Amino acid sequence: MVSDELITRADKVLMHTYNRFQIVLDSGEGVYLKDVNGKKYLDLAAGIAVFALGYGVKEYNDALKAQVDKLLHTSNLFYNEPAIKACEYITKMTGLDRVFMTNSGTEAIEGAIKLARKYYYVKNGKADSEIIAMNHSFHGRSMGALAVTGNESYRTPFGQLIGGVKFADYNNIDSVKALVNEKTCAIIMETVQGEGGLYPGNKEFIQGVRKLCDEKGIIMILDEIQCGMGRTGTMMAYEQYGVKPDIVTLAKALGCGVPVGAFVAKEEVANAMVPGDHGSTYGGNPFVAAAVNAVFDIFEKKKVLDNVNEVAPYLKERLIEVKAKHSDIVDVRGLGLMCGIEFNHPVGDIVKKAMEKGVIMISAGKNIVRLVPPLVITKSDVDKFISVLEEVI
Ligand SMILES: *Cc1c(COP(=O)(O)O)cnc(C)c1O
Repeated sequence: MVSDELITRADKVLMHTYNRFQIVLDSGEGVYLKDVNGKKYLDLAAGIAVFALGYGVKEYNDALKAQVDKLLHTSNLFYNEPAIKACEYITKMTGLDRVFMTNSGTEAIEGAIKLARKYYYVKNGKADSEIIAMNHSFHGRSMGALAVTGNESYRTPFGQLIGGVKFADYNNIDSVKALVNEKTCAIIMETVQGEGGLYPGNKEFIQGVRKLCDEKGIIMILDEIQCGMGRTGTMMAYEQYGVKPDIVTLAKALGCGVPVGAFVAKEEVANAMVPGDHGSTYGGNPFVAAAVNAVFDIFEKKKVLDNVNEVAPYLKERLIEVKAKHSDIVDVRGLGLMCGIEFNHPVGDIVKKAMEKGVIMISAGKNIVRLVPPLVITKSDVDKFISVLEEVI
């Protein structure tokens, strides 16, 4: 098979940082992917919550092609119109004031940490700030993002990371309060935990952290890299909690396949950064910005949010039916089209068998199946998925 030959070549030259599925993907259309052997898959992973619009969207592809022919890159020493427009879209969506565009989610987290630390430094004249992060969180793999990621096995082999980070329990406000002191500059967390097991924040907790931050002058950083951009049924998940963070991070579906992220802040906080404090050669170049603009245009035109709000309750309902029939499913949870199915055993086999039957889903941790489909998925796609899921269970 074509894929065997390619995988043999890949295993010689790629660094072995992933246990990859033995599939070589080749093309995509709508919510379906095709591999190099011509096999078709219904995709419930969307490149890890990236391809919100599905594959092969003409308007999106055309916008990118047009920008390639016009101008790809400028550096941030100059202005470019696509980036200005993208930042206008982003400020409108987030309700925040100033945007720094990055090349990935991890870099958005790095920027958010730097901004919170700088804000504290300007306010207190000291560089001894601390950050509170959450157990079971995931924020990325660089030394800064790793330092706030609540998974010890990801951190330990890499020695000293950035200091001054303490971990509280998600959805436990007392555990956060217990760690606050006069050096606390920021509390960072996902509004819905993704990689750590698909745990939505509960309302009292998210609002409690907001209140705590207000009382103590602490920066609230929400990481919406995975749960933002409409995935939960509102453009930002925090809209459903009636709070606004001081800094939010975005990536994944922001560019729908083009590497782009952003950290966005309230005016007063953003102003702590001055020329020379932060930069990026590529960040927000015209090419990625054109993609972001196309994404926002298509979200509006195709009423993507309406689709999420129609299909997500149906998916949840069908999953609850499946749970009722299978005692090895211990929990079904999530928000919008960001769902977890927790089993009382590892899910590796279930995921593998589903792929053999033409359904791509991924896991989050050992025992949890993670569903983060394109946001344009339909109810009949859900039916197809559910029948395969039942077969493989
Ligand atoms: C994926 C993810 C990141 C890291 O983003 P990259 O683009 O992989 O660097 C950070 N935070 C959350 C919540 C994520 O899901």
